[in-house]
Amino acid sequence: MPRKFKTTVVIPPQNDVDLHANDVNFVAIAENGKLVGFNLLVGGSLSIKHGNKKTYARQASEFGYLLLEHMLAVAAEAIFTTQRNWGNRTDRKNAKTKYTLERVWVDVFRAKVEKRAGIRFAPILPYHFTGRGDRIGWVKGIDNYWHLTLFIKNSRLLDYPWHPLKTGMAEIAKIHQGDFHLTANQNLIVASIAESEKVKIEALAREHRLIDDSASDQSKNSMTCVSFPTYPLAMVEAERFLPAFVTQVEGLLHQHGIGDEQHCAAHITGCPNGCGRALLEELWLVVKAVGRYNLYLGGNHEGTRIPCMYRENINEEETLKEIDYLVSRWARESHANEGFSNFTLRAGIVRPIVNTAQDF
Ligand code: SF4
Repeated sequence: MPRKFKTTVVIPPQNDVDLHANDVNFVAIAENGKLVGFNLLVGGSLSIKHGNKKTYARQASEFGYLLLEHMLAVAAEAIFTTQRNWGNRTDRKNAKTKYTLERVWVDVFRAKVEKRAGIRFAPILPYHFTGRGDRIGWVKGIDNYWHLTLFIKNSRLLDYPWHPLKTGMAEIAKIHQGDFHLTANQNLIVASIAESEKVKIEALAREHRLIDDSASDQSKNSMTCVSFPTYPLAMVEAERFLPAFVTQVEGLLHQHGIGDEQHCAAHITGCPNGCGRALLEELWLVVKAVGRYNLYLGGNHEGTRIPCMYRENINEEETLKEIDYLVSRWARESHANEGFSNFTLRAGIVRPIVNTAQDF
């Protein structure tokens, strides 16, 4: 393949794997509680390069609806081989499926996939998303087992003085008979818990503060990429900078009278490669140089809208001043139940990104 090729399977109404960040995406469609097929979306990707106008974030295009039996053997393979043959192999920064689609056009790519696979896509079936985060807490599966999703603040499972999270997980692992899953939102699921074990697992999780009822929505909806120390080309801290940043944003929300039921989902990344999937977020802070940031606004809670650059190359103090200004306007001028990013678009603070190749 010319570049990495990322795939998701998404079960509405949760867009918890961010389909618009990935090359090929299967959105599950059920009838009477039974999986019958998938809507196929192709060509999403978020990574950009500072100062390179030929790079841009792009939402995945809706190709059509597929029956279950056509998913892997037919459609996925045909998309894979079409991108293999048509992807740009001379310029690595222009090699992903999103650029192939923009170069040859979506209809041409889709027609090639249909020809290779020997199928015709049916029109997309209705689907909608209500959020892109994890369902924190208990969920009962159709197999009658319980699953406990733990919010791991800042994605760091460590032993802190009053939060012995790592020890807590080790204690749970000693008695848990099921699985552990890491989520795409940097949280952790203790999965497949029998009804008889539920009370014991919850008690251990609470004892070690793995369940923290006081965690705010602002905190639960903020995320960073790993940046330092794992990524050698990163310029600054992102992951370890997040808690202080969230505290400052929470302070501004309270100062301007925004209630706990509202938040401004924020992601920070150490560079614009998009690992933290920030380019779908209400507020994205990306490092431009040491101590300097670009501030983007306009994504949404469902992960279906690309944000737009609002300020370029500002320092931390200027960034907080801008957020202060924006939150104060949101508090004063928003309509009832209007979220932060919907407000910034309606008020004309940023414009919507419609055609990412030209607008971004
Ligand atoms: S977004 Fe950049 S700094 Fe962050 S993990 Fe990815 S490549 Fe590293």
